[in-house]
This record gives sequence, structure tokens and C-alpha cells, in this order.
Amino acid sequence: MNEQQNEKQPFKFDLKDQKTRLLLVAIACLIVIAITVLSSVKDANADNTSDGDIGTLSIIDAESSGGAPAPDNKTPENVSMELHVLDVGQGDGMYITCGDKNIVIDAGENGNDEFVCNYLKEQGVKTIDLVIATHQHSDHIGGLDTVIKTFDCKGFMMPEVPENMIPNSVAYEKFMKAVDKKKVPYIQPCTGDIYDFDGVKMYIYDDGRGGEDLNSSSVIVKFVCGKNSFLLMADAEKSEENRIMARGYDLKSDVLKIGHHGSSKATGEKFLDAVNPQYIAISCGANNDYGFPHREIKAMLREKGIKYFRTDLVSTIVFKSDGKNITVTTAR
Ligand SMILES: [Zn+2]
Repeated sequence: MNEQQNEKQPFKFDLKDQKTRLLLVAIACLIVIAITVLSSVKDANADNTSDGDIGTLSIIDAESSGGAPAPDNKTPENVSMELHVLDVGQGDGMYITCGDKNIVIDAGENGNDEFVCNYLKEQGVKTIDLVIATHQHSDHIGGLDTVIKTFDCKGFMMPEVPENMIPNSVAYEKFMKAVDKKKVPYIQPCTGDIYDFDGVKMYIYDDGRGGEDLNSSSVIVKFVCGKNSFLLMADAEKSEENRIMARGYDLKSDVLKIGHHGSSKATGEKFLDAVNPQYIAISCGANNDYGFPHREIKAMLREKGIKYFRTDLVSTIVFKSDGKNITVTTAR
């Protein structure tokens, strides 16, 4: 009875049967074709993401891989980086150079256009590989419209925030007009992304999404130059610091550009201990209306013995790294 049933089955799996052997050969051929097609698609994608225009983009999806970005074991021989915390009065403005690449992060209020552009020209800047508008407040983006107009910019980053958070300000309008007019491509910041600028890695620690206001929707980046690192907090306050800490990122950095001009709403003690910086830069205006940097912050830094520099007292601060050591100079 059983034998009879088996004989009636049309595709009985028997290697001695010629039909079965043909079927197996066909399946094997299909698998080979599928693997060939998939690998060529993968190669094409890799080509797309490494055109080198704004550094090689590689993504580490830190959240889905369950941890912090992998530490970079390779320490390139010839990495170098400079961080210039510009004296833009009450606001933020920074110029960063990594090898031959130039990055500008914010440029203070509108009235600083000339100072920032002249400073960049003095440094020999012609092309800016990336402009980061950390968030839409005028004390950060105000001077950027002229920077965009004056230099050849390869791309700009700005956090994506809900429509109702976007300020109805002249600074924002001018900035958007400038990037539109010069057709500067928008680069979406994404938490966990890593960019390479001549061997210096830029990690996006927070893309600003999920912030309750513009300050806590700041783009936060960490630069790693060989053994040295720089964490730039824009106007992030404690809620955004907590978001980063919750991700388990490696916060330890040699230099910290302190959050929100030294406001006591930023730089929680736990966060500062995790960063454990050698130097801190505070960008704030002389006798500013907000009392930045706040007394509590200054007291905490003194207590922990962390050396800090204020743009209102020493003007522009320049940190230089050769991948091993950092030197600091100030304009006065
Ligand atoms: Zn600000």
C-alpha cells in the first residue's frame, strides 16, 4: 500500500531519479544567479556612499547594534585637526579644519558675518566641505547666510524639527534663502552616522530629533582625531545630554565645547563626569543679558579642576591636535 502511494507521487525526492537531479541543478543555478545580482547591487550602493565629496560616509547604526559606535582602532599616522572657537559675542561660531577639509559650525548673530568670513579667508579657506547649523536660533545661524554666499559650500546640515518650532526670524529666512539660491545640498543629520574628513571621524551623537525645544534639538557632534577627541554640544541642555547618555556612547573627550553658553540648564554633573574633559571652551558675549556662564557652572568646573576658556575674556580660542597631543592658544 505504502509503496503504491509513493510511486504515485509526481516529485518524489530520489537522487537516482533524473527529474530530481534536473530540479537540483536548476535550483543551484538560480542560487548562483541570485548571489551574483545581490553582490553587484551591494557594490553599486557602496560606490554611491563613498564619492568622497563630504568625506566618506559610513553609517554605524548604534541603536540597532545595541551599543555605542565602535571605537576606531586604526590611528592614522598623519591626522590633524584644529578647532577654532570664534569670538562671535553672545552666540556660537566655530571653524574646524581636518587635514585639507573645512567645516563651519554656526557663525553667531547676523552682525558677525564680516568677522567670520574674514577669519576664514585669513585661514586660506576657499571651499567649505560641510556647514552645520546646529539649530535654528539666530545667535547660531545669523552669520551663516554670508558664509554661504561668500564660499563654495558642498553641503549643509540642520536638525529637522516640527514646523511649529521653526522661528519666524530674519536670520532663519536669510539662511534658507542663501542655501536655496546657491543650491547647497541638504545633508540630513542622523544619530549614529559617522563622517570621515581626511582621517578625522565625525560622529553624530544627536540629530536633534525628539527635543522639547530648539535648544534641545541641537545637532551634537564628536570629532575623533587619532587619540584626541572634541565634543561640541551647541545649545543642548540636560534633557539632550540624557538622551546621549542613554545610548551608551563613549562621551570621554579631551575638549568640550560646553552646552548653551555655560547655562546652568546644561552640563549636568553626571554628564560632565562622563565627558571628563581636559579643556572646556565657553562661547559667550561680554556682559551678556543672560549672565552666561552661570555661577553654578563656573563653580563646578573650578571644583573639578577643569581648565576653561571663555571667548568673552580671551576672544577666539584655537585647539590644535596632531592626533596625540592638544595645544591651546587664545587671541588675547
Ligand atoms: Zn545659543
